[in-house]
Amino acid sequence: MPLIVGNWKMKLSPMKAEKLCAALADRASEFMGASVVLCPSFESIAACSQILKKGSASIKLGAQDCCWDDKGAYTGAVSPMSLKELGCSYCIVGHSERRAFFGETDDMIAKKISYLLARTSITPILCVGETQKERTQGIQKKVIRRQLEKALSSIETIKVRHIVIAYEPVWAIGTSVTCTQKDCSSIVSYCDSILQKYSSKLSWKIVYGGSVSSENCASFVAKGVADGVLVGSASVDAKEFISLIQNSITL
Ligand code: PEP
Repeated sequence: MPLIVGNWKMKLSPMKAEKLCAALADRASEFMGASVVLCPSFESIAACSQILKKGSASIKLGAQDCCWDDKGAYTGAVSPMSLKELGCSYCIVGHSERRAFFGETDDMIAKKISYLLARTSITPILCVGETQKERTQGIQKKVIRRQLEKALSSIETIKVRHIVIAYEPVWAIGTSVTCTQKDCSSIVSYCDSILQKYSSKLSWKIVYGGSVSSENCASFVAKGVADGVLVGSASVDAKEFISLIQNSITL
């Protein structure tokens, strides 16, 4: 079953997010062949949770970020425990927009991953991926290895858990330019080979993100490429996102 994650970023007002969530919930019975996760912005999570509670079990709820602690003096931050209480079972961590615009470092990301895995039942969706400059410099794999290994550097103490890795080349996010199927497949295999050393602690899925649409999703969820997709722009339009889910299931 492909995992299809919709990252709504800061693109919808609470009213619009509720409307979109309700439109998707109405069609949830058609999504049985996929695992669909919606990640609204924080202010819309509670309302979406209420909508999804009314019988849309095939759609799960996620957050776009979280703090690395449960409570305390962290002005503006959001506790993973609160996210859990509101019904989130997934949380995106280390999105390139958080790294680029909000100064998230590998260390901060490692703390969040470690907290989610050790202290909550929320599944982290860890984003990794190179910039265009890093790609041109030929250090794409080095960057991805660093991001993965740093993020997972303090997981020795956890019990066996599940994680989702999202390979999101930064140059493909919001640009309408996608990674080729061959490149995607090669990086997914590379991530998989790095993750092998954590296999006593972790099970994982690896998804692709970057300008995924209803038209191109099939090439990424095809057998042997990725386990699913992380979708930004195409997830905030009900018609487009429903087609994307349908086109991913019918493979
Ligand atoms: C994203 O936000 O993670 C993303 C992949 O965005 P888009 O699909 O718009 O490129």
